[in-house]
Amino acid sequence: MIDNHSRFANDSAEALRLENVRKVHGADGSRVVALDGVSLALRAGSFTAVMGPSGSGKSTLLQCAAGLDQPTDGRVFVAGAPLAGGSETALTKFRRERVGFIFQQFNLLPMLTVLQNTTLPLRLAGQKPDEGKAAAVLARLGLGDRLGRLPSELSGGQQQRVAIARALVAEPAVLFADEPTGALDSRSAREVLGLLAEAVRRDGQTVVVVTHDPVAASYADAVLFLADGRIVDRIAAPTAEAVAERMTHLGDDDAEH
Ligand code: ADP
Ligand code: MG
Repeated sequence: MIDNHSRFANDSAEALRLENVRKVHGADGSRVVALDGVSLALRAGSFTAVMGPSGSGKSTLLQCAAGLDQPTDGRVFVAGAPLAGGSETALTKFRRERVGFIFQQFNLLPMLTVLQNTTLPLRLAGQKPDEGKAAAVLARLGLGDRLGRLPSELSGGQQQRVAIARALVAEPAVLFADEPTGALDSRSAREVLGLLAEAVRRDGQTVVVVTHDPVAASYADAVLFLADGRIVDRIAAPTAEAVAERMTHLGDDDAEH
């Protein structure tokens, strides 16, 4: 993944920028301000955790940053390029070329093998799937002997690792993960976070992950805390203890530990 020089021209390259992003969900009667002026800039090769109480806007933030949803106001840049407004085609192209997304429920296709799931984004992007590269990424994630299996034959932790492999082979400028470990036991959860951290250290992958687990968050370089649609705090070089303390302070009552 380090062969893509245009993506990370130097260490200080900016992978993600949000300028005063607002997102209002719903129509007149039921307007919900999910994001209330969020600005941030993330360096390429950084690993950021996003935390905050339920309903604080974490998922909306990731969806707007990834082009899965459009901000009501403000601007989003991924690897220096503006998130194209307007046509659905432009958004789809933006997503395929620049971002990866990992969901809590893995979202693997049940009829495709592990290897086929992993090469799918490349095929969708019209590229010739490099099965050797996909197999190498899967092997690095501990799935080298599972290439021909179906998702239903794997544990939850293994399925999430397939989803990570699928995201990594596309070499996104930013990889977003929204509570990727929410459906896993705590051991598999920390394993998954460890693998994301390794992709950051090894390949300079930029990762943004939402988690409720202070230990998981301590794998990140920095933790952003959201409350009521605003970034209210930031901890650099977080320890699990510092994160847990801050979450209690913010009143997050559904932390997993
Ligand atoms: P979090 O991920 O931190 O739990 P969300 O981003 O999912 O928070 O939600 C932020 C706020 O926006 C909440 O009040 C939620 O109910 C509201 N919200 C999220 N998505 C929608 C939607 N599609 N329509 C209406 N309201 C929404
Ligand atoms: Mg959420």
